[in-house]
Amino acid sequence: MDEIITRTRWFRRRHVELHISDSGVTVLSRNLLPGFGETTELVRWDEMLAAEAEPAGRAKGLRISRRDGKPDVIVSGLIAEQSEWAARLMADELDRRARRADPVMHNAVPAPEIPDKIEELVASGDGAIPAVVDFLLAQGVFHQASDVHFEPYHRVLRVRYRIDGLLEDVVELDAALTDPLLARLKLLANLAMFRSDVPQEGRVVIELQGRSVDLRVSVLPTLHGEKAVVRIFDSANALRPLDQLGMSPDVQEQFVSLLSRPQGAILLTGPANSGKTTTLYAAIQHIHDHRRGLASIVTVEDPVEYDLGIVSQTQVNPVAGLTFATGLRTVLRQDPEVIMLGEIRDLETAEIAIRAGLTGHLVLSTAHARSAAGVFARLLDIGLEPFLVTSSVSAVVAQRLVRTLCPDCAADSTPTSDSLARLGLREVPPGARLRIPNGCDACRGTGYRGRTGVFHLLPMNNALRQLVMARLPAQELERKAAQVAPGSLLEAGAQRAIDGTTSVEEIARVIGPED
Ligand SMILES: [Zn+2]
Repeated sequence: MDEIITRTRWFRRRHVELHISDSGVTVLSRNLLPGFGETTELVRWDEMLAAEAEPAGRAKGLRISRRDGKPDVIVSGLIAEQSEWAARLMADELDRRARRADPVMHNAVPAPEIPDKIEELVASGDGAIPAVVDFLLAQGVFHQASDVHFEPYHRVLRVRYRIDGLLEDVVELDAALTDPLLARLKLLANLAMFRSDVPQEGRVVIELQGRSVDLRVSVLPTLHGEKAVVRIFDSANALRPLDQLGMSPDVQEQFVSLLSRPQGAILLTGPANSGKTTTLYAAIQHIHDHRRGLASIVTVEDPVEYDLGIVSQTQVNPVAGLTFATGLRTVLRQDPEVIMLGEIRDLETAEIAIRAGLTGHLVLSTAHARSAAGVFARLLDIGLEPFLVTSSVSAVVAQRLVRTLCPDCAADSTPTSDSLARLGLREVPPGARLRIPNGCDACRGTGYRGRTGVFHLLPMNNALRQLVMARLPAQELERKAAQVAPGSLLEAGAQRAIDGTTSVEEIARVIGPED
């Protein structure tokens, strides 16, 4: 492994383009006058000695001097700040290449040691900024963060990781580092360097320990500079087989049996970051494996989070007219058997999806609601006819993610009437083993490591059908559904506290009391 960051970006101004890639720098000079063609010159990183911005009349040029004694490459036609930026970027890259053998980039560093390591990197002088950014991103991946936040304030740049759903402080850097760090991030993500007044989004792929990790970078202007959030899409964390999602054996059995049906809609619900995408991907993988790859499986997503490599995945692109609705319509003309739709959020999409579930397609999707029964109310709210809902939807699954107790430090605890009440229980069930978080080095003092899903599966049945047909208001529908259908999210969560997987506090935090 000798490369941390794979980069492809364009630098463009008038008729000069600078393309900085892994192999080197390509200079494209286009003369737009008739009779003059295109000239291209590639300078490899290992041939390059230095790059500097040079005054050249009113504008500036970029001079790239070479190690191999060949003549310098002069790129003219750049405005001053651009040639300075390009020179700085290339100097950074040369430096990064010189230091990429540094082992701190390729191994996890315990969280408490990260600030010291960064101080060392900053103190090492030139080229520190790329190293600090690479280091923070790499450590984010190693610590299984889902996001890295760079938050600029008056005196400091605060860096935090979101791990297992919660933000944790990593380091506070001098505010003087805000602009260079942000510039580096924007550079990696191929964002416009000269705009710091607009929100922007981009992508970076980093290579770590032999695998590629996809990062999505978004920047937003704030009072003290641009705030960046880097979302980490690490397939090693997010893609799990169905039997490792945290479903109880009976929920898993029901879910698998629904997936084997030729048609019907299965809808997932839960707040953002409750693991719905992981469940959908696990379901797709299961169908693919169990229909021996014969099924035609298509997805329409916003965005495509992981390349599954086994099914056709489409990303919505509203600017180009590719919405969930238009995408789904086209998909239906392409002879699909299984359709995964990122989200149902409007009547048009809902109608196409729900009808597809009635006409020989297995449809998997998500919808926003507080509970499983709430999904039915939501579908009626956006305007679907009750008979469509009752005849197409075969089940709704509500899902949450709870943190699991750290195996190294969790301690047994005696159930109190209060803790039982928080789980919705009156007495201690036989075999109960309540545990509480403690905190040790392995879990960064949090008492928790990793997360698991909690699921409530609500299959369609006659009693539920009647409630939906009666068009009851959301809360009444939820209350009555609880009477006719077994189980709830809290019940499923309580089970995970009783078996010691997580704590009562965690269940209360994530699922809360049901009203
Ligand atoms: Zn621990």
